[in-house]
Amino acid sequence: MYSVTYQNVNKHFGDHQVLFDVSLDVAAGEVVCLIGPSGSGKTTLLRCANQLEEISSGLIWIGDELIGVKQAGDRLEVLSEREKARQRQSIGMVFQRFNLFPHMTVLQNIIEGPTRVGRVKRDAAEAQAMSLLERVGLRSKSGAYPAHLSGGQQQRVAIARALAMNPSLMLFDEPTSALDPELVGEVLEVMRELASAGMTMMVVTHELGFAREVADRVVFMDQGRVLESGPAEKVLTQPADPRCQAFIERVL
Ligand code: ADP
Repeated sequence: MYSVTYQNVNKHFGDHQVLFDVSLDVAAGEVVCLIGPSGSGKTTLLRCANQLEEISSGLIWIGDELIGVKQAGDRLEVLSEREKARQRQSIGMVFQRFNLFPHMTVLQNIIEGPTRVGRVKRDAAEAQAMSLLERVGLRSKSGAYPAHLSGGQQQRVAIARALAMNPSLMLFDEPTSALDPELVGEVLEVMRELASAGMTMMVVTHELGFAREVADRVVFMDQGRVLESGPAEKVLTQPADPRCQAFIERVL
């Protein structure tokens, strides 16, 4: 597993600055939940880690490797697209919408990455996919098409698909917020299992109960800044920052 370090990260979209000097360390094997009002920059922070967004300044390390750039003497050089793609492959991302390929079965969805990008042999990829499906409780659905699965099942397949690339870090962007309430639990259960298996995880979530139970640390963001970071119990019950306090009172 890898650690993640953000060092003085700033991000602008045109004239609009959305991340202000964010510094954050996530240790290898740690589970960090990001909470905060809508528009506070949580998603953008995740997307910068796997280069779906480019940072405007600052540095991000995954393990001991810089993201998107490399040191060349005393300056930084932008990595080639190929190098960036290699870095992205080591990071799994699960979105709010499950983004499965609708014309492919569950099994095909999962082996697509490993066989095409990772160049794993089909037999080996299928065997791994079946064991991942077992892990997310969907072995019997390997031949089904996404449209025939519930939202919770689709999201569990999306998690299995991300895991098929053997990521050293998993990013979750509100993975349960598009689900009917009765389907949330099964997805959180899979995430709980991953966390206890030692995966490094960053999770943007409104599920404060999940954060309390699973997160090693909760980070509160507002208006592009990290305002509070600490053990889940402390941040969720005795936040020092008044805006964090107000947010938690509103959500609970
Ligand atoms: P959160 O995840 O906390 O809701 P986001 O990271 O999605 O916050 O958004 C932070 C800010 O960045 C918001 O003001 C949003 O409108 C803006 N933003 C996000 N993505 C883009 C984009 N691609 N182009 C312009 N502005 C964006």
